[in-house]
Amino acid sequence: MGNLCGCGEIAKCRTSWTQFNPGRRFLCCPNFMDPTRNCNYFRWVDGPLPNRWYQGTMYQLHVNLVNAQDQVVQANNQHSRIAFYNRVLIVLILGMFLVKFI
Ligand SMILES: [Zn+2]
Repeated sequence: MGNLCGCGEIAKCRTSWTQFNPGRRFLCCPNFMDPTRNCNYFRWVDGPLPNRWYQGTMYQLHVNLVNAQDQVVQANNQHSRIAFYNRVLIVLILGMFLVKFI
C-alpha cells in the first residue's frame, strides 16, 4: 500500500529536475496541481545525490533533453507550416492551369 498524504489519498511519486536535486524522486499530494486542495505533503523517495559531479551531470543532461524536445516541437511546427504552404501553392498552380484551359 502506498503512502497517504494529508488528504488521505495515495501520494503521487514524481521526479525533481531542479538544479539541486535532478532525477531525485519524491512523494507529494496527488492534488498538487490545485493550490486550494494541495495538502503540501512531501517526502523524498531517493536518498541525497551521491556528489556534485553527479548532480551537475544529471541536471545538464536534463537541460539538454528539454532543449532537444523543444527543437523537435519547433521543427514539427515548421514542417506543418511548409506542408500547408505547399498545398496552397499546388491549389494555386492547378487553379492557374484550369483558368488557362477552360
Ligand atoms: Zn494531499
